[in-house]
Amino acid sequence: MTLTIGVDVGGTKIAAGVVNEDGEILAISRKPTPARDAAKSVQTVIDVVNTLKDSYDVSAVGIGAPGFIDNARSSIILAPNVSWQNEPLAMKVAQAVSLPVFLENDANAAAWGEYRFGAAKGRSSAITVTVGTGIGGGVIIEGNLLRGSYGFAAEIGHMNMVPEGLLCGCGENGCWEMYASGNALVRVARERATKSPKLASRMLELCEGKIDQLNGYMVTQAANDGDPAARTCFQDLGRWLGQGIADLAAIFDPEVFVLSGGVSEAGDLLLGPVRNEFEMRLTARTLRPLPSIVLAKLGNYAGLIGAANLALQ
Ligand SMILES: [Zn+2]
Repeated sequence: MTLTIGVDVGGTKIAAGVVNEDGEILAISRKPTPARDAAKSVQTVIDVVNTLKDSYDVSAVGIGAPGFIDNARSSIILAPNVSWQNEPLAMKVAQAVSLPVFLENDANAAAWGEYRFGAAKGRSSAITVTVGTGIGGGVIIEGNLLRGSYGFAAEIGHMNMVPEGLLCGCGENGCWEMYASGNALVRVARERATKSPKLASRMLELCEGKIDQLNGYMVTQAANDGDPAARTCFQDLGRWLGQGIADLAAIFDPEVFVLSGGVSEAGDLLLGPVRNEFEMRLTARTLRPLPSIVLAKLGNYAGLIGAANLALQ
């Protein structure tokens, strides 16, 4: 069986794994990301690959990296979290490890992993919506990963949902991720805890009264414990997500949506409101089969496995 190495470049750590054709990870190597030093980040990718390459006979390397990737899948145009700008990553790694290297956007790689081996396995068309600090996505239609003419496709977190809405890190106003991401959940939870403390007693208990320390895990915990304000936050978040997913369904008509990322760990707390809103908003909903909305299965390894499998091709 052919083996490849998949690399997942994150803002805090770089993980690489030897993966077989069935999407099984045979070995893993990890190192912290020297995120402020572009050259050292490249070297860390090389180091984690070399660590594994010494022990396994691998045929190629796939890298899932954050940011914008050129259409040739060889250079990073911009990845602010890792200080990369016009970085010819694939070429540098290929020269250093003497293997073919394939580069892909990390959200696309994760979507591909879920499509081949995870929650969307066996489906023809699937969209992964990654709800973390922001919103990322990957669109696979009839077996093809959508990259776009210039390599910029599926930046779904920056769909404009609210004209003149909240200012996003991308410089525009009203992007979807300003309302439906983990950061949005925490922002709204802090507002609710400040304005309606009686309804947020469990959240306040978990953050020991320090509202600026309230995080997504605490909001999820409080909602699971029945905190009314925290539950309302998930209903709000679910509504925003359901609306955006209905828009994506109107455009792409996939069989399944896969929800992944840290916020998806809230499970039914999130899925219920998302499905409700989605079913109310989907265009032509009385005439058509409804796509399913499911939780991701591969967790943090989706990107690594997806990148490895893309390199196989
Ligand atoms: Zn934006």
